[in-house]
Amino acid sequence: MQAIRDLFNSFLLIELLQGLRLTGRHLFTRKYTVEYPEERAPQSPRFRGLHALRRYPNGEERCIACKLCEAVCPALAITIEAEPRADGTRRTTRYDIDLFKCIYCGFCEESCPVDSIVETRIYEYHFERRGENIIHKQELLALGDQYEQQLAKDRAADAPYR
Ligand code: SF4
Ligand code: SF4
Repeated sequence: MQAIRDLFNSFLLIELLQGLRLTGRHLFTRKYTVEYPEERAPQSPRFRGLHALRRYPNGEERCIACKLCEAVCPALAITIEAEPRADGTRRTTRYDIDLFKCIYCGFCEESCPVDSIVETRIYEYHFERRGENIIHKQELLALGDQYEQQLAKDRAADAPYR
């Protein structure tokens, strides 16, 4: 009986008509296609993009080289070396993130006691040469300086939920 029904359905193009009915139903409804890059999808303040290292308003690095981010990183993407400075404070001499290893989980950001390592809203970047996937301390600090306003605003928006 099923075989006869299937034969009947395919002879009358029932499945094709069902497909066309679905297309017709969506023909005049509101479209959700985003015309990237002219149009952008909205981003959450919690968006996890490229990393940055932040400073305090007086220009001092926030990072105190506690290495919690390095320890918590599940992808072993962070490499930190640190030394005490002349004034006795401890700062990193090396802070590298391998962006090929990073899975953008945000654990580094969550673990940081001083809101130093953060993930920005930047997601448009690429590498052209071997080794460019490793982002160094000075680049991370430069990103932090460039996007500090947005980073501070996003952290403030998220603060009530942390
Ligand atoms: S986002 Fe996750 S995987 Fe990437 S560096 Fe931070 S802790 Fe590691
Ligand atoms: S970025 Fe934060 S968690 Fe990582 S070493 Fe510096 S202070 Fe510690």
